[in-house]
Amino acid sequence: MASSPTGIDGILADLRARGERITTARRVVLQVLLDHPDGHLTIDELADQVSEQAPDVHLSTIYRTAEFLEQAGVLVSVRLGASPAVYHFASNAHHHARCENCGAVIELPGNAFDALGRRLLRDHGFRAHPNHVVIPGLCRDCDNS
Ligand SMILES: [Zn+2]
Ligand SMILES: [Zn+2]
Repeated sequence: MASSPTGIDGILADLRARGERITTARRVVLQVLLDHPDGHLTIDELADQVSEQAPDVHLSTIYRTAEFLEQAGVLVSVRLGASPAVYHFASNAHHHARCENCGAVIELPGNAFDALGRRLLRDHGFRAHPNHVVIPGLCRDCDNS
């Protein structure tokens, strides 16, 4: 679930096909996020790890690169509750359930709202595009205490 199904080569080929240059910063930002087991990184975590792997890349370049990749539709940045925004791959469709008490986050599959989507279409003619929905609630531990 954590990594993009396309892989870095697919993403880079896609950008190249759209006439975009493949810079070191772009390549390393994508690689760092792909390598991250959880697949979600704040901009500061991303910047830290990119600087480690590519010390020549300036911090402002990393911020601009993340913005560029978001505008290009490769990454999305989302907020989970009150925590800072995290980046993850747009192709990694998923949702979250987040505990309002302890902040625990559970990852839900991208099809978690299919039944709701069918119902919205049938009852309201509304075609839902749920994207990284965050459902608030209580986790098992907090619910039992
Ligand atoms: Zn997520
Ligand atoms: Zn909890």
